Amino acid sequence: MAAGARLRTPPGHPHRPRRAGHRVREVEPARRTALVDEVARFVRSHPTVDLPEALDERFRWLVTYQGELHRAGLAVPSWPTEFGGRGVPISEAIIILEELGKARSPELINFVAVEVLAPDLIAFADRQQLREWLPRMASADEIWCQLFSEPDAGSDLASLRTRAHRVDDGWRITGRKVWSTWAQFADRGMLLARTGPTDSRHRGISAFVIDMRQPGIEVNPLVTMTGASEFAEVTFDDVPVDADGLIGEVDRGWAVTLHVLANERGPYALRRAAMLRAAMASVPERARGVDHTRTRASVIDAYIAMWLLDRRISQVADDIQTGQPVGEGAPITKMSLTDAEQLIFDAAHALLGPHGVVGPDDLGWVEGWLYSRAASIYGGSAQVQRNIIGERLLGLPPEPHPR
Ligand SMILES: Cc1cc2nc3c(=O)[nH]c(=O)nc-3n(C[C@H](O)[C@H](O)[C@H](O)COP(=O)(O)OP(=O)(O)OC[C@H]3O[C@@H](n4cnc5c(N)ncnc54)[C@H](O)[C@@H]3O)c2cc1C
Repeated sequence: MAAGARLRTPPGHPHRPRRAGHRVREVEPARRTALVDEVARFVRSHPTVDLPEALDERFRWLVTYQGELHRAGLAVPSWPTEFGGRGVPISEAIIILEELGKARSPELINFVAVEVLAPDLIAFADRQQLREWLPRMASADEIWCQLFSEPDAGSDLASLRTRAHRVDDGWRITGRKVWSTWAQFADRGMLLARTGPTDSRHRGISAFVIDMRQPGIEVNPLVTMTGASEFAEVTFDDVPVDADGLIGEVDRGWAVTLHVLANERGPYALRRAAMLRAAMASVPERARGVDHTRTRASVIDAYIAMWLLDRRISQVADDIQTGQPVGEGAPITKMSLTDAEQLIFDAAHALLGPHGVVGPDDLGWVEGWLYSRAASIYGGSAQVQRNIIGERLLGLPPEPHPR
């Protein structure tokens, strides 16, 4: 597809200003009540208490759940109707997220597609592809994975070695990816591969959408300390991608990458924060009878972190609504999200005492605490976010980078 035909900011796209210059507005009380009631009706008819234990079954259950959430208009409410959303302002989408969070509605199983990859595709793919891909992402009819990290290229992503060779009708991919969330269930993935010389670093990387159901792809699930195989190692042995699978321009995939990472570190926090707010809501109640100084201190730290994250989220929502780039503040959002996630579950863990390790886990706190360790790694580690803040926002001397 020619570069000129690329759709950068389609009308109605949630990242495009609807009322430029205005901050996210309070939602009218009657409208708020209507949205709250709408979510309550959905939650009443879709209780989520007994998720299956076995991963395959649990995954299928969550796919069905996301499909139903989508059919009820609650999975991607702020997306344009053309791509499967209902085009509501971000302020209303936040109410929906909050209410789903309060009801402990499970996170979207296809969150990598919806939160991390879709905003990027909206900026870089063509409209026909978006019409095909986005509604199926929203309904979880098609699961997507993100194929960026490699065994020797995580924080230093520009050193990735997976190769894309040009052939007559497109490309052939050979290489190895790791930590790819839900890759074992994925139908498609967004993959970064080197198209330039070996030492070209970020100047020789291209981005592709690849069909994951092809010969030559081997997926080995990896078990995390929560006990779930949430991610996988994936090898590609001369796997074809047709010419339309190239996203953005050849050798210019770094721009696509930065866009993905900005969303993963910024707007993704809106959905995650709704879940954390709900987790935090039950912490003080459990803490009231506690007379242990350190536990009380950890509850207070958690409260402060959530309060600060809420302020940060308001800023991100404003930026989205007014069409400001979300990239610059994204490392701060990511750090704020990481702090809140880890401090809230540290407090919950302290309150549970020995049950914090062995359960029972009726509030999801044990799993939440174990998973919270990942918050300072996924989407770029906390140390890397600090480096970016130091170099780009504060103008401190740069880290020594390999050339
Ligand atoms: C739950 C989870 C889900 C994930 N899902 C995906 C996915 O779907 N797709 C995908 O592509 N990847 C995914 N990842 C991978 C994630 O992006 C990487 O783990 C992350 O970028 C860190 O890379 P690494 O693991 O190779 O660690 P390394 O880069 O090897 O880093 C090791 C340690 O060194 C530190 N470090 C490295 N460089 C520097 C530096 N310059 N300055 C200071 N400290 C430094 C890091 O902070 C870290 O503590 C996921 C990770 C997790 C935990």
